[in-house]
Amino acid sequence: MTIRRWCIDLKIRVLGAAREVGGSCIAVETEQCKVALDYGIKLDDVTDEYPKNFDAVMISHAHLDHSGSLVRLTKSRNPQVIVGSKVTRDISIELLKDMIKIQNSKPNEVFGYDESAVSKVHDFWSPNESVDLPGLTAELHGAGHVAGAKMISLHSEGKTILYTGDFCIHDTEILEGCNLDPLPKSPDVLISESTYGGKVRPPRGELVAQFLKQVSSTMKARGNILIPTFAFHRSQEMAKRIDQAMEDGALPRYNAYTISNLAQKINGHFNANKHLFTEQIQRQEQPFEYKHLKHVERTTDVEEPAIVVCTAGFGHAGASLSLLIQWAEDAENNVILTSGYLPPDSPLRNAQEKRYFRAEGEKIPVRARFDQIELSGHADQREIVELVSKVKPKRTLLVHGDLEQAEALSTAISEMTEVYIPEKGESLLI
Ligand SMILES: [Zn+2]
Repeated sequence: MTIRRWCIDLKIRVLGAAREVGGSCIAVETEQCKVALDYGIKLDDVTDEYPKNFDAVMISHAHLDHSGSLVRLTKSRNPQVIVGSKVTRDISIELLKDMIKIQNSKPNEVFGYDESAVSKVHDFWSPNESVDLPGLTAELHGAGHVAGAKMISLHSEGKTILYTGDFCIHDTEILEGCNLDPLPKSPDVLISESTYGGKVRPPRGELVAQFLKQVSSTMKARGNILIPTFAFHRSQEMAKRIDQAMEDGALPRYNAYTISNLAQKINGHFNANKHLFTEQIQRQEQPFEYKHLKHVERTTDVEEPAIVVCTAGFGHAGASLSLLIQWAEDAENNVILTSGYLPPDSPLRNAQEKRYFRAEGEKIPVRARFDQIELSGHADQREIVELVSKVKPKRTLLVHGDLEQAEALSTAISEMTEVYIPEKGESLLI
């Protein structure tokens, strides 16, 4: 594999999320120590493994594409130190337990871990905002994106590397965007996500208004509204927005539900960590106990017409698949997708694009209305350009984005910094 030489001292090796989204992991090696930035998993291919010989593994946030391989460290002969924020630890633990349950329920399962591995991850975790290792200091900085998300800066041999993880500069309804002021300036290398590197989204307020307008219009027609989400953060954000809109009168009172035991557990962590959220959220006693949305265990508990926020986010399993099957054929009903990505050939993607999908051995036609309103927690191109112009990195590596997105971003920032889009396994010396 190519080694691109900028000069010698620190070695960066991109082990995952190169020219794609999923399985983030970057090794940084000095003369004296070796750290990993994130230790994620690709949920559609859990066989991919990273080296285990790190002095510390730094986790930017709890999403499994950044933390899902941590259980693998528990089989290493040397106990590892995992560094990340406390809420990232607590939520990662919930997500890892759920992931193991799902993996172990698959026929011909090869993953080979149980809940005891998750307890060990908890024991290895040092919930500090900075760590000193031989010849290297690491610091965490708020990243927006989701509760507990951090950027990570590494300082060694007079050089600085800033890794964004996933980040977001704009405020969302429950979380403030990241503050660029405290970030280290002129780092030798910025390693930035580029998920939406080629996109500029309309302002958040416009998207929220569009969302509420669409929900109101379906409610007027007495239709059902399905909002498939992930259990961590997006579920709470969507449920809280609907709850608040019903409280303020921006939406009428309507049967409203959340269905996800995992989301319900995460609500508890959010309530216990109110300080992470906006001032408005902090003023409420139990902000993630909703007034107007009821948590139910099963789709049979839903009284129609209803608005339902439920998992799985990609609609391939769980309540979102059951309700899609139940509601797809009726033109009064409405599915609202709030993320920009759906896996190829997933029921939701087929339902949206082909107007039919297959489930339970049947071909189901789709007459329900589909809307895509990208209320994303990722920086878009304008925000990444803002980060680069403020931080002024000498060089920038683009990861965590499809090649098309990374290339569009590269063009947008190439006059401000030397940009490179590494391949998987590629090493760079700085
Ligand atoms: Zn993320």
